[in-house]
Amino acid sequence: MRPVTKWRAGQMILQNGNQVTVLENYSPYGNANSILQLNLGNYCSYCEIFSSDLEVEHVIPKNQNDSKKTEWDNFLLACGRCNGKDNKSNKLVDLNNIYLPHLQNTLFIFEYKEGGLVAIHPQVEQNNQKTKANALLNLVGLDKYPGNPKYSPTQRHKMGFPENDKRWEHRRTAWEKAMRKLKALENGEISAKAVARFAEERGFFSVWLSVFYAHPDVKHEMISLFKGTEITCFATSTFNPIPRSPNNQIDPI
Ligand SMILES: [Zn+2]
Repeated sequence: MRPVTKWRAGQMILQNGNQVTVLENYSPYGNANSILQLNLGNYCSYCEIFSSDLEVEHVIPKNQNDSKKTEWDNFLLACGRCNGKDNKSNKLVDLNNIYLPHLQNTLFIFEYKEGGLVAIHPQVEQNNQKTKANALLNLVGLDKYPGNPKYSPTQRHKMGFPENDKRWEHRRTAWEKAMRKLKALENGEISAKAVARFAEERGFFSVWLSVFYAHPDVKHEMISLFKGTEITCFATSTFNPIPRSPNNQIDPI
């Protein structure tokens, strides 16, 4: 999951040639949608799909804390599936016991594989870190893919989750597209910049970054092209994910 950096409330930014101040509160909260997309790109903050139909997502759900309903600091962007009733919805969120894409390096904690698979990365070793990574995985159901033994079949859902939850399939397709571009890059048919531009219009940053793991030039282009990507989450020459808060002795991730 792409680590992002959000603008601060009070910060001045340029929107369509006009200077705009990021507000502390947006009421109704839907008014924050366009500035969030300007900040973070047109991607779901969780599944990373490129979409023209993103919602303002309340990290702490509205029913958990009403005062956070309009608060800029509590917003991300989400697709209807990640934010929907079978996934995040109104589930309680404890910021001390979960990783989130605007606060930690959420690319460091997950491993993306062929076939649309997502799992906790083996480099997450400590139990408390695994717990926080799992909390995010479960919050948005990012590891819902056919055959994952974690989801037992029910009478209603033979895969253990609704069949119209196709996020895994979108990731699988993205993986296949990225593999074709990898071949083209290695054959000298396409530049690193062209690969990154192609990816930018399709989303699934983490899938592309995994496929192009051995190509720092592509990763570098992608990190600068995908709006809002937090650059400090990547090593300077390899652009591999690194912990976001190296000086935090309790948990650097
Ligand atoms: Zn999503």
